Amino acid sequence: MDWSKMLSKQVTDMPRSGIREFFDLATGSKDIISLGVGEPDFVTPWNIREAAIRSLERGHTTYTSNYGLESLRRAISTYVQGFFHVEYDPLCEILPTVGVSEAIDLALRCLLNPGDEVLYHEPCYVSYAPTVMMAYGIPRAVETSIDDLFALNPAKLEAAITPRTKVLMLNFPTNPTGSIAPRKTLEEIAAICIKHDLFVLTDEIYSELRYDEEEHTSIASLPGMKERTLLLHGFSKAFAMTGLRLGYACGPKELIEQMMKVHSYTMICPTITSQEAGIEALENGVDAMLEMRESYHKRRDYIVGRFNDMGMDCHLPGGAFYTFPSIQRFGISSKEFALRLLMEHKVAAVPGTAFGACGEGYLRCCYATAQNLLEQACDKMARFCESLK
Ligand code: PLP
Repeated sequence: MDWSKMLSKQVTDMPRSGIREFFDLATGSKDIISLGVGEPDFVTPWNIREAAIRSLERGHTTYTSNYGLESLRRAISTYVQGFFHVEYDPLCEILPTVGVSEAIDLALRCLLNPGDEVLYHEPCYVSYAPTVMMAYGIPRAVETSIDDLFALNPAKLEAAITPRTKVLMLNFPTNPTGSIAPRKTLEEIAAICIKHDLFVLTDEIYSELRYDEEEHTSIASLPGMKERTLLLHGFSKAFAMTGLRLGYACGPKELIEQMMKVHSYTMICPTITSQEAGIEALENGVDAMLEMRESYHKRRDYIVGRFNDMGMDCHLPGGAFYTFPSIQRFGISSKEFALRLLMEHKVAAVPGTAFGACGEGYLRCCYATAQNLLEQACDKMARFCESLK
């Protein structure tokens, strides 16, 4: 078979995820401490697992409506109103999806025509540019830097807008930097979106995991923004439910209806098991979530302190469970640093360049790892940094 003719050029031209590429190197190696994968080290809280078990015991093994269970949509609506202060109609403005991942894909497919440009702030989650390309859009990164604590600079955003720009993707708290956008910055970004008639996809999957004083603000809650914003959220991170694959999109009914159409032809619905577990998470899982957040908070403080002591300059990230220390003073690239750290000291972290070119000089370290392993990883990293001086 001539695979060069058989396979889609659009897909074969797409680079592999920098994270996957890096972790393939670690496959098979023993005794590695991983600060690599962006996944809670907690098991899903027991009451949520029990809800999934109960669902199966009752024989709930069918499809649900393409819109998902109405009881789930009602629980999402109540939760979102309480947490984000935005009201969504559970009957037509909310769509449960297979993770935030599916919601991103659906939204881009329903918004973009070929050649439409999508802006997003970089370093960013690895799927943004590829999903834009799969929807025949043109991804345009707006670089962020430590000078703005990796939050999107409104002036840089406005300078990047062209007549083809249609969508802005936001992700605060941010993967991989843990950065947050203060309300004032979001207000400036919102004014730019209104002025230039942009639609906003805001991926707020880490919104509960904030450790600063300010309450989380969703851009969807700012005046004039609900009608031009799709709020994406899910259960993977805050409720430690990555494997249950459940997320949701909240936004204008015109867009939700089109997304539901694509969803009905592709995924049909998230499993009924995870939908029933999701209801339990929203209604009775918040205390467990807050306990996990407290634990991440302590680990963040520990790891940032250790990094700064060993000469990796590290800002205090306001949210998520990532640190983004600088390795610039060691005079080697992010990739070489991460590779040698892995091979010589058996600690896996991700080169900043996996999240965009402006991640050069940085490393992403996920601290959703047990405290004793974090301590061992930091000891090993300190020895490595010492050896590079
Ligand atoms: N968005 C961001 C910013 C992420 O970091 C991730 C996972 O790491 C996702 C979306 C995917 O989330 P889900 O598990 O809900 O598909």
